[in-house]
Amino acid sequence: MRNGAEAAPDLFATEQVVTCRDDQVGLRAVIAIDDTRLGPGFGGVRYRRYPSPSAAVEEAQRLAAAMTLKHACAGLPYGGAKAVVLDDGRVADRDELFRRFGDFVARTAGGYIPGVDMGTTEHDMQTVRSRGARAFCADSDPSPWTARGAFAAMRAAVQHAYEVDSMTGLRVAVQGAGHVGAVLARLVAADGGHVLVADVDRERAAAVAEEVGGAVLDPEQVIEADCEVFAPCAVARVLTATTAPRLRARVVAGAANDTLDSPEVARLLVRQGVTYVPDFVANAGGVIQVHAEQSGHDRAQLEAAIERIGERVAHLLADAAERDVTPEDAAESLAADRLAAAAGRWRPEVARS
Ligand code: NAD
Repeated sequence: MRNGAEAAPDLFATEQVVTCRDDQVGLRAVIAIDDTRLGPGFGGVRYRRYPSPSAAVEEAQRLAAAMTLKHACAGLPYGGAKAVVLDDGRVADRDELFRRFGDFVARTAGGYIPGVDMGTTEHDMQTVRSRGARAFCADSDPSPWTARGAFAAMRAAVQHAYEVDSMTGLRVAVQGAGHVGAVLARLVAADGGHVLVADVDRERAAAVAEEVGGAVLDPEQVIEADCEVFAPCAVARVLTATTAPRLRARVVAGAANDTLDSPEVARLLVRQGVTYVPDFVANAGGVIQVHAEQSGHDRAQLEAAIERIGERVAHLLADAAERDVTPEDAAESLAADRLAAAAGRWRPEVARS
């Protein structure tokens, strides 16, 4: 990069990138379909401001690639995809914006299945669906299932790192007391753990701490909290080459997407003796729940699928230790094996005449 210029995204890192524009309603959107070897691309739609169109394309591609890994590791019949709708702060009619976006989704002929993500709602997905596009609209909030999956991952990781079968006596620092973090805090406390919780919304943190008999931490200091487990459940890229060495926890398992800011941090954590559960493995509970809902699975089937996250984590951590690779590398090889075994790429059904 010269003169602070932005690097252009590698468009061909992704199977298909669709840019969408409609000046009448002020729509600018990007649909990134990363890989369809396991099925049509499924992934949420983000609606937020971006510093530039390139930044939006890059985020859609990066998040779509993570969805490919998430679905492959969880054994779900979807490819990875993500869409971003650029918020320029000037849109007059949100419904019209999402109707037009729905037209673009419909043009992918089912190759992209959107769902709710940061900045979008179930209502937006209903609007997308009203244009004939396939969209996953959950009947219920998947966050509690994401929390249950993250908890299963955490239990497997503490078993691996501390050789214990429950959270009894372990201190868990939860970063973010939102939809997932609050439920995760309850699960930890119910299993005998001591919750330390931090949120930029201090009232939210205080309410969760009070409910579970825990304590509130300063959000600036949560990474270096004196505890056994750090559970990131707020923002992306919290572990960097600068922050990771400050961790005192020996286990990191949480729901936040994109927790490490580079593969180098995964190696750094191994050198520090920290057991890190790859985020795309730990936070798959939400997509597992959405899939179960779409497939008409009953609650027992869903619960069993969520519990399998714990088994998967135990297997991945043992595999990583045996092969002397990072858990992230082990999870990526599991995904690569499943993708390589797929019969071909997803294709729309073509009407035969
Ligand atoms: P949420 O918006 O309900 O909660 C996030 C919380 O984090 C909020 O209370 C917010 O105030 C707090 N927060 C923001 N910045 C913070 C900071 N710097 N330090 C401490 N707290 C901060 O979101 P959520 O649905 O609970 O999701 C949490 C994370 O899990 C996100 O990264 C999300 O992408 C990821 N995730 C969620 C799901 C799901 O089912 N909800 C599924 C997969 C991944």
